[in-house]
Amino acid sequence: MSKMHLNIALDTLKATGVRITPQRHAILEYLIQSMNHPTADDIYKALEDRFPNMSVATVYNNLRVFREVGLVKELTYGDAASRFDFATGDHYHMICETCGKIVDFHYPGLNEVEHFASHVTGFTVNSHRLEVYGTCPSCMENEAKEAL
Ligand SMILES: [Zn+2]
Ligand SMILES: [Zn+2]
Repeated sequence: MSKMHLNIALDTLKATGVRITPQRHAILEYLIQSMNHPTADDIYKALEDRFPNMSVATVYNNLRVFREVGLVKELTYGDAASRFDFATGDHYHMICETCGKIVDFHYPGLNEVEHFASHVTGFTVNSHRLEVYGTCPSCMENEAKEAL
């Protein structure tokens, strides 16, 4: 499954003329395998042993290249560091307010909301983003332990 995603991603890069360096390969592989919406810093820390000459800025620049060709989505949260998401089709996010974990879930696209929003505002809709906030199971477990 993730091998297939990686190959499709590499083909996309080739098709758009983006050079596939070992670093780019490793960053993509990490994004696809981790599934935890890492920050550029997370990726840097995970790969610094393999690429001692790589900086956080390099990671960020590569992520920007991936974003431009549509392989990666950048999720911004105010002043907090952006999280990066390998774009495996439309999905929504469940976010833990305690530890910040982001979990994907699939739900039929909310096209009606887009149509309605466009209708009442006169805007042309490009995309939408839905995030559901709560407490993840492991944080609930921790809270339950602390309450004892
Ligand atoms: Zn949590
Ligand atoms: Zn996601």
